[in-house]
This record gives sequence, structure tokens and C-alpha cells, in this order.
Amino acid sequence: MKIRTGFGFDVHRLVEDRDLWLGGIKIEHTMGLLGHSDADVLIHAICDALLGAANMRDIGYHFPDTAGEFENIDSKILLKKTVALIATKGYTIGNIDATVCAERPKLKNHIPQMQQVLAEVMGIDADDVSIKATTTEKLGFTGREEGISAYAVVLISK
Ligand SMILES: [Zn+2]
Repeated sequence: MKIRTGFGFDVHRLVEDRDLWLGGIKIEHTMGLLGHSDADVLIHAICDALLGAANMRDIGYHFPDTAGEFENIDSKILLKKTVALIATKGYTIGNIDATVCAERPKLKNHIPQMQQVLAEVMGIDADDVSIKATTTEKLGFTGREEGISAYAVVLISK
């Protein structure tokens, strides 16, 4: 058996008049993340971690933000495509551990639903999708609520 790890990181800017999509679900908030797709920063970090683990470049390489087909696309579709991409090399997901850095909104109560939704998209057990939320103690761009960042590590095997 071959086991590999991967790491992903992403940032999106918070702006007014955008829906906030995070971890595959829409969350009520005064601002949303700006991006070519729905800007789901957590899903993007997970996609990059999966691609990195399989040594298959990054999310921008496969789903360029200049392509009209990906405009405002639901990032769950990108995640599903990413799982299919690593499967072409024979890899399946072991587990995922992710952290979202956001000053607001409080994510604690949304995490079980995110785990459920993302696990379903990836065809894995919800117990294999860990999502953690933290603030950055009002420091930096996340602390000033200018954006949200996300980190993810994954384990894949074949
Ligand atoms: Zn992104």
C-alpha cells in the first residue's frame, strides 16, 4: 500500500453583497467571500491538499479562474472533480483535517453539517472529515474581517 499526505491553503476576500459559502453550505452573514467560483475557501484548501497529495498540481491549474465554465460554480462540483482526478492515479481518501480562520461568523454550530455535506460529495465517512474553526485573535486580515483563510491536510492511499 502506498500512503501519501497533502497540504492545502487558501484565502478569499470578504465583501458585501455576496453569499457566504463555506464547507459546502450557505451560512447567514453580513458579508460573503469574493471569487470566480462561489469562493468556498474551505473546499478549495481541501482540493489543493488532495491534488498535492497525488502530486497533481493545484486547483488553479485544473479549474482556471479565466474559464467561463467555472464562473460562480458550486465548489462542491470542483471537489467531486478533484476526487475523480486523484482516482485516475488510483488514490482514495483516508482522512481530512482542516482549519478555517475567521473572526466572524461563529462556525461551531455549522461544522457537523459541513462534515456531512463534504463527506457525501467525496464519498467518504463523515468521521473522516475533521473541520476546526478558529479566530486569529483580531490580528491580521482575518482578524480585521477582510477575508477568511483555510488550511487542510489529507491522507490518501492506494
Ligand atoms: Zn479559492
